[in-house]
Amino acid sequence: MHKVTLIPGDGIGPSIASVAVEVIRAAGVEVDWQRVEAGMTAIDKYKDPLPQNVLDSIRETHLALKGPLTTPVGSGFRSVNVALRKEFDLYSNVRPAHSFEGVPSRYKDVDLIIVRENTEEFYAGIEHYIDPSRSAAETIGVVTRSGSERIVRYAYEYARTHRRKKVTVVHKANILKYTGGLFLEVARKIASEFPEIKSEDKIIDNMAMQMVLNPHQFDLIVTTNLFGDILSDLASGLVGGLGLAPGANIGYTAAIFEAVHGSAPDIAGKNIANPCALLLAGVLMLRHIGEIEAADRIERAVAAVLREGTHVTRDLNSASPVGTVEMGQEIIRKLA
Ligand code: NAD
Repeated sequence: MHKVTLIPGDGIGPSIASVAVEVIRAAGVEVDWQRVEAGMTAIDKYKDPLPQNVLDSIRETHLALKGPLTTPVGSGFRSVNVALRKEFDLYSNVRPAHSFEGVPSRYKDVDLIIVRENTEEFYAGIEHYIDPSRSAAETIGVVTRSGSERIVRYAYEYARTHRRKKVTVVHKANILKYTGGLFLEVARKIASEFPEIKSEDKIIDNMAMQMVLNPHQFDLIVTTNLFGDILSDLASGLVGGLGLAPGANIGYTAAIFEAVHGSAPDIAGKNIANPCALLLAGVLMLRHIGEIEAADRIERAVAAVLREGTHVTRDLNSASPVGTVEMGQEIIRKLA
């Protein structure tokens, strides 16, 4: 029996989280889910977006499956996602993007891994207005040598373990000479320790264009926090959208698995959200805890449902009357 913290999340979170829980149960994995609330849901209940019991639970389980959490734009409380990543030092955000047969998308056979630094730079939360009249604002992006070393090393070791052939380091060291420069300097040094893996580096703006033109030229991408956040949404767009993009936040003592997408307030409560991104995050979690066979079965069931294309949500087939719940049931039927 695995103990896992479950944060259903805001907006579409509870509906897609319940599909993930059902499918994992149907695949025969015994999980003792510790259900806790964070984000807007927790504000409504406890007047705190990150109540102590959430932290206590993750400290005990070392593992969480987390639905998306709403973060107010521009003002209001700071991101709970960022707070969780900092609290548990989840320095590595691994976001795979790969094509599924049957999913309408611009490309076939895309298979990318984005490794994003998850704790530093513009997400460090060092920002302020310079005066009371808000005539200017400053956000300070801190990049450290040790933070760069551990994320780039994680990326290369991941590439070695998963037999990835090439690592592309993405930066903006031409303009951000200090933060970008330090990250690139460290990355080039670590690359030299992995001679069997091809290494290259690219400036972020060119990289965005190259990914849209020909994503097949890339294999594993490692980059700083903000660029990684943006490029991973771009990558999910290459393979059919946010409904299929999972992510893993990995630290030394804890790991939190989530969808790349947010709480999608525009479609919340309508039973039309695609449950696959969070379910595939659950698959990453199962692999992380050694439940490889169940993970493979779930992934095959998702692939079969996507391939058939008849029991998919409307983000994948605009004429589809199939909802979140029904797509989940079909995935369970396909579990062989
Ligand atoms: P979003 O990812 O929630 O939605 C972007 C678009 O994708 C919307 O049109 C939405 O309907 C669609 N979409 C997202 N998930 C989908 C799914 N599973 N199935 C079908 N369509 C889906 O991004 P946003 O609207 O910019 O952000 C909404 C909120 O989510 C914000 O408060 C933001 O801060 C938060 N957010 C949280 C996380 C997280 O918890 N890790 C990540 C990103 C955004």
